[in-house]
Formats: sequence, C-alpha cells, structure tokens
Amino acid sequence: MTVVTRFAPSPTGFLHVGGARTALYSWLYAKSQGGKFILRIEDTDIERSTQEAIDAILEGMQWLGLEWDEGPYYQTKRFDRYNQVIDELLAQGKAYKCFMPAAELDAIREAQMARGEKPRYPGTWRDRTDHPQGQPYAIRFKTPQTGSVVVKDHIRGDIEVANSELDDLIIRRTDGVPTYNFCVVVDDWDMGVSHVVRGEDHINNTPRQINILQALGAPIPEYAHVSMILGDDGKKLSKRHGAVSVMQYRDDGFLPQALLNYLVRLGWSHGDQEIFSKEDMINLFSLDNIGQSASAFNTEKLVWLNQHYMRSLPPSEVAKYAQWHFAQQQIDLTQGPALEAVITIQAERVKTLKELAQISRYFYEAYEEFDADAAKKHLRPVAKDALIAVQAKLSGLKEWNTESIHHAINQTAEELGVGMGKVGMPLRVAVTGSGNSPSLDLTLNLLKPEQIEQRINKALEYIANRENS
Ligand code: GLU
Repeated sequence: MTVVTRFAPSPTGFLHVGGARTALYSWLYAKSQGGKFILRIEDTDIERSTQEAIDAILEGMQWLGLEWDEGPYYQTKRFDRYNQVIDELLAQGKAYKCFMPAAELDAIREAQMARGEKPRYPGTWRDRTDHPQGQPYAIRFKTPQTGSVVVKDHIRGDIEVANSELDDLIIRRTDGVPTYNFCVVVDDWDMGVSHVVRGEDHINNTPRQINILQALGAPIPEYAHVSMILGDDGKKLSKRHGAVSVMQYRDDGFLPQALLNYLVRLGWSHGDQEIFSKEDMINLFSLDNIGQSASAFNTEKLVWLNQHYMRSLPPSEVAKYAQWHFAQQQIDLTQGPALEAVITIQAERVKTLKELAQISRYFYEAYEEFDADAAKKHLRPVAKDALIAVQAKLSGLKEWNTESIHHAINQTAEELGVGMGKVGMPLRVAVTGSGNSPSLDLTLNLLKPEQIEQRINKALEYIANRENS
C-alpha cells in the first residue's frame, strides 16, 4: 500500500504551531514510508476563509520546508464533485432530503434538552416520500441505526462509538453548500489518503466520516489524532503565551530547523534523543511513538535548539535564513564580508538570527556612535598612544590575515610594555563601536585595513574631544 497523508488546514488564520506540528507529523509519516504528502485547503467556510490566510499558510509551510507532493487543492473548486457524490448517495437511498424548517428543529432540540437528553435530529424525513414541492431542503446522510463504529487510532488505540449516538448529519445545507464533514470524506477518498493525521479536536467527526466512507464503499484510512499543545502554564496555547504563528518565529529569529526539531519532540520521542535533523526525523518517525497527553510549549528549549542549529549547521545554510534579518534591519550585505564568515564568528554569541543581525551591523557600515559605557571606559586619553601605535602596525601589514593581525596587536602591547587589554579594548571599541566582539584577529580580519584606519581615527577624535571638554 502506498502511504498518502495530507494536511488540510482551514484558512481562517495564520499557520500556528499546533497546525505546523500536525503538518510535520503528516509530512514525516509520508516521507518515512516513501509515500506522498498532499496539501489541501479546506475553504468551504466562505465567510471565515481569506486569501491572506491561504498565503500565510503556504508561506509557513514553505519556510518550514514541508514541501507537498500534490496540491494545494481547494475545496471550493470541488463543489461539482461533492454534488455528484451526493446525487449518487440519494439515488442509492443512502441519503435523503430533509424539509424540516430550522425553527422546528430548534424546538425539538430545546424539548430534548429540557428532558435532559442529547439534542439530535430525530430522523423525521428519513423514510418519508411525501416531499413538498418547491420547499427548501437539506440533504442528510442515513447513519446506520444499529451497530457501532470503531476508530482505529495510532495514538489513542481503538475508540468505539455506538451509531445510536450519532444522528443523521447534514451533508448539504439548505443553501446548497456541502458540509465540512462530507467534503473531507470525499477528498480523503478521491485523494487516496491512507493515513489521516489531525488534531484531537476532530475526533468526534471521525466516526461520522467513517460511516460515510463505508456507505461510499471507500477504504477507511488509518487515523492518528494528535493531542493539543499547551502554553508553559498548562493552559491552551494562545497569543497570551507569545508567538503562536509560525512566521512570528521566523520574525523573532528562529531557524526552521530549530522549530521543526522542537515541534517533532513536542509529543513524539525516540529514546532520550533531543536533536533530530530532518533526515533523522524521517528515518526514525513513527505514528506509534506519539504520546497521548497534551504537550506544553517551552520557549527556553526552543531557544536552546535554535542556538544549537545556529552553531552546528553549515554557515551557508544559516546564511540563507539570516539574510532576511539583515535586510529587515536595513543592513546592506554587499557592503562587507560574506555573511557566512560573519556567522562563523558570531553565531555562538547570540540566541537568534535577529540578534545576529543586530550585533553584526559594524561589519557592513560604520557605526554612528560608540556604545556610551564602552567608550567611557576604554576610549580614555591613556588609550591614545596604544591606538596610534596599533594603527601604525596594522597599516604596515603586508598580509591581512588573522595571524598577521594577531601579531601586530601583540607586538604593539609588547613594545609599549602594557598588557594586551590596554591595546585590545580601545581597539575593539574603536573598530566595533562596543566592548563586545569575537576575538580581535577574527573581527578585524573581516574588515578592510582602510575601514580600521578610519574607525581608529574616529576613536582618536573622540578621545581628543574628551580631553578638550
Ligand atoms: N480543516 C481542519 C482544520 O483545519 C482539518 C480537518 C482534517 O484534518 O480532517 O482543523
């Protein structure tokens, strides 16, 4: 059997972390089985679906690298097909027209609830043939009245629901629009979906969908209903907990590799392994190792993973995602060293790509002002001689590399008979504008000698102004 999975978001908002995890599990299962992953946009709720949300979902999926093999399909483009299947069910007596006005149904439900019963449609039109002419009607599915449905769930085991618990659900509304549960069934059938991975909030729909699949003579897929994601405080994850949109994590400076690794572990495990590359995930993933309980989101762990990937992925890979942040912060990457080189020396100093861009501006443009504290501490009159001396040494270098730079700084300190810090710190503040940077030889090596010269001049000016004030 070929494994076919799908991710079927309703485009009523951005791609949130819960949806992304469902998509990831679905994608992973297909990949792990050499199968196919389909993207389907469930946009039948025309009032709540927006093009913006569709774009946001596609953008999120692309950023995460969850490529789909087929689709995106749109349910709104498949109404003819749904109606065709409805006609077949009607012709076979497996569905029927229900002429009950909404007000009558409401009254029945109220009475049922008043008696302490579960509100349900009583099957009034199930077998009637005295159809009124010209009256609006809905189409209902004839749910079997006896027996039960067993949902075989990879995560929750077998779930048995008696058919007497289910009423005859509407598959096409009075306004002619096929309903959600019905479209899902026809799609899963037509698209050959073998495994349905979705949120546990859909678990009540599953027995109904299985009954319809059976009536159609369609194969029943296997199911995996994934539990909810909670915030760090144990409450359902929401905006209160900070970012919930996948793209917000991009904006905050996370690598998709980190978020994917974080999401895969949120509910799934493989021994006590924490770090999973995409290849690891594909090789090791199975639906049967997904936990049943809700998982709590832990931002600290995500940050830890982000740091891990920033340091361990090839800088060229990190650069692909870092670029965007430099552009966001209006840093012109054409004005300085290769981004990879900056990543190599800066990645271990930050938690996010956003911070990486923030602390790397000086490689691409002259800073406007010195960091006040660093300047106050290190750009003092006593530093003047050291700066002049090191400037002379650096400008005399025949070769510009970490060794020669290192040597020049060392020699300056030796010749002046002072400690390295007395030369290094003023030089660092002069070159980077602040007291924090990777080691000076690495930092200076990524800049040009003339830039260093100008920046030292600027520091000397600062010192001169300070002397005069
Ligand atoms: N469209 C549904 C949702 O966004 C998913 C339905 C399904 O996966 O079957 O929650």
